[in-house]
Amino acid sequence: MISRLCIIGVGLIGGSLARALREARAVGEIVGYGRSLGNLQQAVELGVVDRAAVSAADAARGADMIVLAVPVGAMTEILGEIAAAVDDGGVITDVGSVKGGVIEVARQALGARFARFVPGHPIAGTEQSGVAASLADLFAGRRVILTPEAETDPGALASVRAMWSVAGAEVVAMSAAEHDRILAVGSHLPHLLAFALMDLVVRRDDHRAVFQCVGNGFRDLTRIAASDPVMWRDICFANREAVLEVLRQYRDNLAELELAIARGDGEWLIETFTRAKHARDALNKKS
Ligand code: NAP
Repeated sequence: MISRLCIIGVGLIGGSLARALREARAVGEIVGYGRSLGNLQQAVELGVVDRAAVSAADAARGADMIVLAVPVGAMTEILGEIAAAVDDGGVITDVGSVKGGVIEVARQALGARFARFVPGHPIAGTEQSGVAASLADLFAGRRVILTPEAETDPGALASVRAMWSVAGAEVVAMSAAEHDRILAVGSHLPHLLAFALMDLVVRRDDHRAVFQCVGNGFRDLTRIAASDPVMWRDICFANREAVLEVLRQYRDNLAELELAIARGDGEWLIETFTRAKHARDALNKKS
């Protein structure tokens, strides 16, 4: 049971966690803080938070669980604001899509309190943003990755684990480096490809004609290009090395594909497409 939950960034992820914990009756009071008054007012009106705080420090003060659910690039500013306000028994966690960079800024900002910081990332979401898009069951059956450091307090880790379990998630742990390498391939690359594909089409003179003729394939592949640009800019920079490496690998694969088509190498195409099809069929069976 969390007596006072503080959500900083009451958007899709922060709002969904608040809703899930409220629905599970696992929380007393929920205090929210964010950037715009409009979103916070909506959060109060929807009953996602009980009240909005006037500052991040005010929101964090007296809370036993503080969840940072702002874009990765805003973590430094928020951590700096709350560092001195967090109670000794307070646990701080985040939901950022990149872990290495967030851990570094948390270590610097929190000093001795860094032991009470538990880095986390729910593998759940949609292409929508803001509290209006939040859902109580967003995390049901989904995975949450925690990336504790050597200093992480076991009690704080257990509290964050319990919080996500109550929200319906399956909690796993791994190193931040492994998380960032894996997510660069499984999440960051597909988002960048979706943005790049949409941008390629919209910059063509015939884009209207193209959009009139797109089917489900194009829609499936580009759904996530409707995601928030600020969030994805921050992820690119926070996971720069791993993202650049996988982009290079993808570009090499595209170059091979281009050459195979140019030389009329049907065998190469069948082999490559079949390998990909089998992998995709297997993924369908798992989910
Ligand atoms: P979101 O819906 O846009 O919510 C972010 C919230 O943070 C908004 O309410 C925004 O306030 C607030 N915010 C932004 N900058 C701020 C600042 N400088 N100070 C205070 N509040 C600020 O985004 P989200 O999808 O929930 O993403 C939040 C975090 O979750 C990100 O770190 C992201 O990497 C991570 N994440 C996202 C997904 C996903 O699929 N979306 C999945 C897993 C993890 P306003 O509404 O007033 O602008």
